[in-house]
Amino acid sequence: MLATITTPRIMLIGAGAVAEIVDVMAKLACSKPLLVSDPYMRDSGKTGHITEVLDTADIPWQLFADTVPEPTDDVVIRGAEIINQGDFDCVIALGGGSPIDTAKAMTLLAHGGGSIRDYKVPHQANESGLPVIAIPTTAGTGSEVTKVTVITDKASDEKMLIMGLGCLPAAAIVDYELTFSVPYRTSADTGIDSLTHAIEAYVSAKHNPYTDTLALSAMGLIALNIRSACNEPSNKAAREAMMLAATQAGMAFSNASVCLVHGMSRPIGAFFHVAHGLSNAMLLPLVTAFSAEAAMERYAECAQAMGLVKPGSDTAAAVKRLLAELRQLNIDLKVPSPKEYGIDKEEYFSLLNTMAEQALASGSPNNNPKVPTVDEMVTLYKDAWDT
Ligand code: NAD
Repeated sequence: MLATITTPRIMLIGAGAVAEIVDVMAKLACSKPLLVSDPYMRDSGKTGHITEVLDTADIPWQLFADTVPEPTDDVVIRGAEIINQGDFDCVIALGGGSPIDTAKAMTLLAHGGGSIRDYKVPHQANESGLPVIAIPTTAGTGSEVTKVTVITDKASDEKMLIMGLGCLPAAAIVDYELTFSVPYRTSADTGIDSLTHAIEAYVSAKHNPYTDTLALSAMGLIALNIRSACNEPSNKAAREAMMLAATQAGMAFSNASVCLVHGMSRPIGAFFHVAHGLSNAMLLPLVTAFSAEAAMERYAECAQAMGLVKPGSDTAAAVKRLLAELRQLNIDLKVPSPKEYGIDKEEYFSLLNTMAEQALASGSPNNNPKVPTVDEMVTLYKDAWDT
């Protein structure tokens, strides 16, 4: 099998990398940036990490900080208008997955026009707009290196998956020092998001030797460091490991795809406004248990990569250990069930079929080791309610 691998043209990784923004722009022959971020980053002064460096280099900039968590199409439309009204030659996206995804979609729409809905899968979003320089401030989504953006259609509450080279940042600046201020809940949710990316990339029907190495490395780093990163926010080693793992897991899933957890997680996020990493976490143990029988060896290798069993351990025992650890991780990181989160029970159960159909339509479940029917997904959603 041939594997097509796509990555940003430049990746700068390590403490202090964000200060090199001007050098990265110069390598891309860019000098007129639009900075895209969110209200927290602006109001806390964190956009200063970029603007102060740009000011020192006499580079004019404009800020668009109206992005929202779990980005919506209306914000993308506003952002695309700003791109087209200005004289920009690149977009710098600073923030978690939400500002980065918004920036990607803005450049697509500003360049190609139409409606953002036109770009969702199965469309291949290869249209290239302005280059995006992505600077993550959470250790989670890996969006800085993926050819993916996820935008919610506000009218239908559908989280639309958009994939193609047009979504791939030109450069990723990965500086773990930006994550020290991430609060406990977001550290936990984004960390489990990365773990889900790594596990799903590893068991995906589209996995390949290149993505396998990245996925296994990410799993090992996350298993060792996720609890410390959450409980000790200033733990440099843990934050660095989680940031590296997030980027590795992003590269893994972008080139191998995600599977059933992500397929089923997006509708929960869209209908009930649950943060992406948290909706993944609500489903990861249950969906892994459902899928395990179809890829016992691969899941056993995940357990080994996570340091849960010794090399050469019995496959069934290793998978059992993996399932136990995923459940324990949710307990340790205080992941609520949909019921505990406060989702309205009647609404949740009335949407089971719609959520399952949207999950199937996203294509992600087809990459799962065990491809589910709509009825099986409905059962999984029911089981997840209070698990
Ligand atoms: P986010 O970007 O929505 O941020 C969550 C919260 O954390 C926000 O309030 C934000 O202001 C805050 N925050 C961010 N950085 C911070 C920092 N350094 N210190 C303190 N607070 C900080 O969350 P996320 O989980 O990073 O991104 C979620 C989005 O990413 C979802 O829309 C999801 O669909 C998308 N996603 C995209 C991909 C991809 O490949 N494109 C992959 C996975 C998820």
